[in-house]
Amino acid sequence: MPGDTCAHIEAINSIKQPQRLECEECMKIGSDWVHLRTCQECGVTLCCDSSPNRHASRHAFSTGHPVIISAQPGERWLYCYPDEAFAEY
Ligand SMILES: [Zn+2]
Ligand SMILES: [Zn+2]
Ligand SMILES: [Zn+2]
Repeated sequence: MPGDTCAHIEAINSIKQPQRLECEECMKIGSDWVHLRTCQECGVTLCCDSSPNRHASRHAFSTGHPVIISAQPGERWLYCYPDEAFAEY
């Protein structure tokens, strides 16, 4: 994979795609989001750091699930929170 990867990203051999294009946590509280991210550990889809609730990064830090993909149609990249590493796929 091109990019500045880390061991977490290199350990991923199949990408978990989003089941639904909505933030699960924002749906529960009736909030809005900007962009969506899908956790590569458990497959949950949550909102990005530009969104008011930043559910994806809160999920990463509270669960220790390091790697997300962009769930935006047409975007094909992974990001690791603890290493701040990016890769395209
Ligand atoms: Zn990493
Ligand atoms: Zn959210
Ligand atoms: Zn997760």
